[in-house]
Amino acid sequence: MFRSVLKLTPAIALSVIALLFCGCRTSPSPHEQASRPLQPTPDTDYQIYLIIDDAGQRLSQIQPFLELPVPMTIAVLPGLPATQSSAAAIQLQSDSKQLILHQPMQPMRSTADPGPGAIYSDTPLEEIPNILRQNLAEVPAARGMNNHMGSLITQDRSKMNAVMAFCKTNDLFFVDSVTTPASIATQAALEHGVPTAQQHVFLDNDRSEEAITRQFERGMRIAKDKGFVVMIGHASSPETARVIGLMHQPAKDANYSFHMIDDLL
Ligand SMILES: [Zn+2]
Repeated sequence: MFRSVLKLTPAIALSVIALLFCGCRTSPSPHEQASRPLQPTPDTDYQIYLIIDDAGQRLSQIQPFLELPVPMTIAVLPGLPATQSSAAAIQLQSDSKQLILHQPMQPMRSTADPGPGAIYSDTPLEEIPNILRQNLAEVPAARGMNNHMGSLITQDRSKMNAVMAFCKTNDLFFVDSVTTPASIATQAALEHGVPTAQQHVFLDNDRSEEAITRQFERGMRIAKDKGFVVMIGHASSPETARVIGLMHQPAKDANYSFHMIDDLL
């Protein structure tokens, strides 16, 4: 369930942007401004939104994340051996762990396989609602999705329009993983009145704990500047769970707070 749902129509989004230009402490991009919480938060509360992608391969992958006493969002891929068991395990902890669909989409690199349930450049537009419906049936408690890969598809206006029209009809939010700077997913979501946010930091492209820690600290600086940050890690990286385990208490002591993604939307 959404605790605070805001459906951002383009008109409302523009009003929000206009308001935020008056006296806000930073000047984030319009998309980032549009996804800010409307409820004012104290300047000392810097919000961290963690999303752990690529769950569904093995249930054991997400256990280290489920065990952390930290609110976060876990994005589950469809059609994998542990898709449904992962979704069920996350849902059992729905007070602090939020389940979303990790929707596979074709990337620009032709050798990379987005996996089962993907949207490809040659997928007929009328097929997209069927694909999304089938994928969501495996993670029935999900109230939103983000893209897995998708550097090609998130640039495709007609494909994004079809995805966002489905999200709007089915009361789903969409988080743009921003796997390419040319992604139009956030813009398409706003135009369709779909609640949206976008990734600021990938935590574990380099999976050494030192590198993940540096990325986490980079995210904390962004949160301090903007008021919030969306950081994405991966279920296949136990190092990421270890770094979150080490960092969350010092972060809380320094007035950072952790949230599931629907708090932002
Ligand atoms: Zn992914």
